[in-house]
Amino acid sequence: MRTPFVVGNWKLNKTIAEALALVTELKNQLGAVKGVAVGVAPPFTALSAVAKRLEGSSIVTCAQNCFWEPSGAFTGEISAPLIADAGGTWAIVGHSERRQFFGDTNESVGKKAKAALAGGLGVIVCVGEQLAERDSNRTLEVVDAQLAGGLAGVAANATSRLVIAYEPVWAIGTGRTATPGQAQEVHAHIRKRLADQYGAQVADTIRIQYGGSVKPSNAEALMAEKDIDGALVGGASLEAADFVAIVKAARPG
Ligand code: PEP
Repeated sequence: MRTPFVVGNWKLNKTIAEALALVTELKNQLGAVKGVAVGVAPPFTALSAVAKRLEGSSIVTCAQNCFWEPSGAFTGEISAPLIADAGGTWAIVGHSERRQFFGDTNESVGKKAKAALAGGLGVIVCVGEQLAERDSNRTLEVVDAQLAGGLAGVAANATSRLVIAYEPVWAIGTGRTATPGQAQEVHAHIRKRLADQYGAQVADTIRIQYGGSVKPSNAEALMAEKDIDGALVGGASLEAADFVAIVKAARPG
């Protein structure tokens, strides 16, 4: 009953011309795909051009970040109203690279998620443990803290626009993927926490993406797991053929 959602996170890649070339191919190849929702997250410089090119298709345009204030003296930041103005309809918040390199914390991720939703966007809240945390059996505790902070301001009536991305940090950009079983275990735990916060019925409707070196060769096995509802894809989203194959692997069987 949950429509899988596959999003390509292009990170700090693609000029406007390159972004348009890629998204035009995606629009052509995924225009008729059924049963799966698709999004791309270009860098901010290409957001408006990509959103415009995607008009008339069901592929959505996502921002890679979203500051919590709508406007003001915040040099270098981009807010939900500006993302919406550029044609974006979703924002990713709390990506591990933002946490690692740019100081995002559980608390600031929560403020960003709340602001994105208040601005009318959908929001993908990223969580995931580092290798040392997994090795010391702290995965669930770390994810719990990230969820508590990230969802602190997310009301039950906004959850139709809420997606969680479970991305073990040790699997991002490393070529190392969580096994379907490892991922499912954490996804089931996340759903339990969502049920604690919003009730089981609502929790059943919230999509939980997996991210971390998803590629055409492993996508189908991951997507077959009960609580894995799509993917947040980094490296493999930069090439149309790979991303299209992953989207097709996410279609419900
Ligand atoms: C990501 O950036 O969210 C990600 C999962 O990257 P990759 O697919 O390259 O591991």
